[in-house]
Amino acid sequence: MITLKSYAAGEWVDGTGRSRIQRHAVTGEEIAQLGSEGVDFAAMLANGREKGGPALREMTFPQRGAILKKMSGVLNGHRDELNEIAASYGATAKDAELDVDGDIKAEVRCLRAVQINAYNFPSWGMLEKLGPALLAGMPSIVKPASPSAWLTFRIVEILIESGVVPDGALQLICGSVGDLFDHLTHQDLVSFTGSAATAEKIRAHKNIVANAVRVNIEADSLNCIVLGPDVEPGSDTFEFFKKEVVREMTVKAGQKCTAIRRVLVPAERADDVVSALKDKLASIRVGDPGTDGVRMGPLVDDEALRAAREGIATLSGEAEIVYGDPSRTDFEPKGGAFMEPVLLLCRQGSHAKLVHEVEVFGPAATVLGYRDVDEAIELARKGGGSLVGSIFTEDEDFAAKATFGLAAYHGRLMVMDAKSSPESTGHGVAMPQLVHGGPGRAGGGEELGGVRSVYHYMQRVALQGDPERLERMLAPASQS
Ligand code: NAP
Repeated sequence: MITLKSYAAGEWVDGTGRSRIQRHAVTGEEIAQLGSEGVDFAAMLANGREKGGPALREMTFPQRGAILKKMSGVLNGHRDELNEIAASYGATAKDAELDVDGDIKAEVRCLRAVQINAYNFPSWGMLEKLGPALLAGMPSIVKPASPSAWLTFRIVEILIESGVVPDGALQLICGSVGDLFDHLTHQDLVSFTGSAATAEKIRAHKNIVANAVRVNIEADSLNCIVLGPDVEPGSDTFEFFKKEVVREMTVKAGQKCTAIRRVLVPAERADDVVSALKDKLASIRVGDPGTDGVRMGPLVDDEALRAAREGIATLSGEAEIVYGDPSRTDFEPKGGAFMEPVLLLCRQGSHAKLVHEVEVFGPAATVLGYRDVDEAIELARKGGGSLVGSIFTEDEDFAAKATFGLAAYHGRLMVMDAKSSPESTGHGVAMPQLVHGGPGRAGGGEELGGVRSVYHYMQRVALQGDPERLERMLAPASQS
């Protein structure tokens, strides 16, 4: 079993208490242990402030950009090893493409970033934040979620060993954040990705409130897809819609913040939609991602499986399970956190309440019937703010009305029909130039979006004075 250490103030530190054991998602065997007791969190922050930050800010913007390019090269050299580690949290080859390859390909001033990440993207989740932070000249302390921390640990280890990142610019916590938040100041930024419940705790932390520490939250969301009434079953747009829903339910076993949870369809089409989705779901083989023909792996661990089953049980109080058995256990190998895809149906979406409130973080979605475009908008809005929504229609009037109705409640909207399908990257893929984040329940945060994501890590200030003098003063700074 491997011990995942923290990297604090230039040293690899083995925590004194073992707060957590990480198990292999497929076999259930113990693979890693981690804990951060004994780590000096105040010293980590000081190291970032005094070493990492100044070293980064001595460089120009292009020089900091060059670090990202080198990081990408270094990690590419370890691609196979990283993909193997990704299998330990249940990723199929396609899932690993999103997380590991997604980050390898992706790749200001006086602030420091503490980054807390969710378990489902241990690689991409870290690097999509680290990239803009480094560009902005800010050191980072990365804290991966415990169930999949091995992959993040190995990436940080590779980057530190390679020497491409200046001393103090990248540190790692494997385990809990201890008293880290007590030492944050208003010059720091906490960039959190995870559940709305944890986000609420972080926002309410006494020191974060007292010092107005900047916090960016990317939380869970009940993303929807809306099928227009014009789309006939069997048409190309319908087939594309069906593919998209099933892909979103099954990629990473539905453990994706952008996954479609609510499928809004004209009430009179509900049966056609359910029957089409059932056919497609039946072709998804669940099992060991290393086995040929397997399309969906397990959830990350037993706790995630328990939570997903509990969520489905809650939803089944107001929606009928029309496909899949959440309690099924006859998967191979034994000991993995497997679950088959589960589809629920609520014919009159307006009768549902919990479907708009409870996130099942697994391979599950609910079909909800709507009467007209106004009701579709009303149902979508009941999610209370989402990362992404999709509108599948060939009817321009419906598309316009739904777009304006949904826009203020989403970080990103995808308007789609069969004609646009060849160039579509899909509902769940947040491209670097797009906004990733959403209002309300989704956390109110905003990442990606090109240069905007770099600004997001910077303290901005308005300068007032003689314009010529300011220009002279700032000329050297504009290089960096
Ligand atoms: P989580 O339980 O909220 O944990 C997220 C992170 O917060 C983990 O690193 C966790 O560490 C840490 N954490 C837990 N309690 C904390 C506390 N009191 N103070 C500081 N940090 C704390 O979420 P998860 O189960 O890892 O991830 C699944 C959730 O994330 C889902 O709800 C999903 O929708 C959401 N998500 C959102 C996005 C997005 O971009 N909006 C992306 C991915 C996932 P430990 O693991 O060590 O407890």
